[in-house]
Amino acid sequence: MENGNSYRHILKWGDKHEESISHHMAEVIKEKFGLPEADFKRKHLPGTEPVKIDKPSMLKPAQLDFFRSVSGAENIMTDDLSRARFSCGKFYGELLDLRFGLVPDPPDGVVAPRTHEEVEKIISYCSDEGIAVVPAGGLSSVTGAVRAPAGGIALDLTKHLNRVLAVNKVNKTVTVQAGIYGPALEEELNRQGYSCGHFPQSFEYSTVGGWVSARGAGQASTGYGKIEDMLVSVRAVTPAGVIATGDFPRTAQGWDIFRLFAGAEGTLGVITEATLHIFNYAPENTASAGFIFRSFEAAVEAMRTIIQAECGKPHLFRISDPDETDIAFRTSGFDGTLADRVLQMLGFKTGSRCLMFVTVEGEKEYTRFVIRKIKRKARAGKGMYIGTTPVRKWLEQRYSSAYLRDPMMDLGIMTDTLETAVTWENLLNVWKAAHDYVARRAKAFMMIHISHVYENGANLYFTFLSPMEKGNERHDFTTFHRGLVETILKHGGSISHHHGVGRVLAPWMEGHLGRSSMELLRAVKKHLDPNNIMNPGGTLGL
Ligand SMILES: Cc1cc2nc3c(=O)[nH]c(=O)nc-3n(C[C@H](O)[C@H](O)[C@H](O)COP(=O)(O)OP(=O)(O)OC[C@H]3O[C@@H](n4cnc5c(N)ncnc54)[C@H](O)[C@@H]3O)c2cc1C
Repeated sequence: MENGNSYRHILKWGDKHEESISHHMAEVIKEKFGLPEADFKRKHLPGTEPVKIDKPSMLKPAQLDFFRSVSGAENIMTDDLSRARFSCGKFYGELLDLRFGLVPDPPDGVVAPRTHEEVEKIISYCSDEGIAVVPAGGLSSVTGAVRAPAGGIALDLTKHLNRVLAVNKVNKTVTVQAGIYGPALEEELNRQGYSCGHFPQSFEYSTVGGWVSARGAGQASTGYGKIEDMLVSVRAVTPAGVIATGDFPRTAQGWDIFRLFAGAEGTLGVITEATLHIFNYAPENTASAGFIFRSFEAAVEAMRTIIQAECGKPHLFRISDPDETDIAFRTSGFDGTLADRVLQMLGFKTGSRCLMFVTVEGEKEYTRFVIRKIKRKARAGKGMYIGTTPVRKWLEQRYSSAYLRDPMMDLGIMTDTLETAVTWENLLNVWKAAHDYVARRAKAFMMIHISHVYENGANLYFTFLSPMEKGNERHDFTTFHRGLVETILKHGGSISHHHGVGRVLAPWMEGHLGRSSMELLRAVKKHLDPNNIMNPGGTLGL
């Protein structure tokens, strides 16, 4: 049985409830992977044992006394459960470790500072003592960015540094403490008539500090931008001192220093505060539309035409490729219905048809104008309008679908995601190469979607599933995952679009960016963190 101090409690997503696989989904799994009925009745590697860490905490009594004197004894934890909880994020390989009862990279302790000034004292002390510091937000990283291979402390920013400091209605910005979670920020902004505009699928369990540090993207990023587009300024504590940047709209005073912290993944310092652009909150004005296309190529072409038309931008803008579309139709019970048969007759065939979802947010006349233009262009691209219900349904399950990975792993199915950015001219090339790669593995399945769209290109988001090789789970996953990363890079995709690099993709960083660029990153790191205490041990390939 699971309990609050088990590995399972740590590895599970979100509010930790036990999600089950629907009847439709079970049918798809049986068909695709040939899983026997018995596998649905037991849990593979459930991780239900109580957490136990063999590595003792290396913090010395004098060091613990120091942390207690700064932040209070109640904010310093060295017990096994806390250390295990802060030893990892939600990368598949980390979840597998926990299922095996392994905690390879625990911090020696967890410190939860109460103020910016306490962070300053802690960072200065840790730099002098050579104690590693891993800044921790919601621990939803999927790139191994919150492990502590050098021990030291995890700095829990969520316990106290989690408030909205100011909503500036004149400048239309919000200043927050970095450990604030998405819902707390959005609730306060909605109360004042605004929205943060940043809604990653992990929204409920991730923080502003983590969004900025991993350069995240929310579901409406095509309209609102990625988090770095919303970032106005930061206040950050580095071992070399505090960096606080101004709230200017734009400047020409050399490099934008605040941008160094977007994507730094905790390697330069601790962001304690951030100021972000905010947006009007008017959900009643949102216009949406769903379309279906006969092929992925046609849907991509329509998407490109729409984004390059300069007639206003969608906010949510997605295409599911044929495999993802088929799974959506099958698991929702749409397959085989009368509506499905009509679609098939019209040439929207299983195995090639693709769904496109759009929303436009903003002022009422604007959203109506833009959605009209989009409908016209989608139709011109041979897309068929299928109403707004599919978009609404997709939005309704957006956060809950994140819970499905846990029951999939219980069934012995490996499932992970990767994402990349590509130019339009190269998009189909990378999409095809990734599918070809996965097709070479027996009983493997991949769904791909586009969800963040730009004038010169878009992202591709890959979700792969395959039965684990029982008894060889770790090696099997690592080998398969590595092959997919290499396929994406070889065909010209970027190393990441919005998950960041962490330790998982770090081995490819130098090859991807080039030596001179990596040396530049290392020089910045060396200046701000001369004793290499900030998230050391490979993050970003530093
Ligand atoms: C189910 C699921 C869905 C996801 N969906 C999305 C998505 O739609 N879009 C997306 O962009 N990402 C997504 N992610 C990835 C992840 O949620 C994001 O990377 C998120 O931005 C991480 O935020 P966090 O608060 O959890 O940060 P953490 O995981 O705690 O930390 C991430 C990195 O930021 C650093 N860091 C955190 N706070 C600070 C700080 N204050 N100062 C300095 N460094 C700091 C950490 O050291 C680490 O390197 C998803 C993850 C999961 C598990």
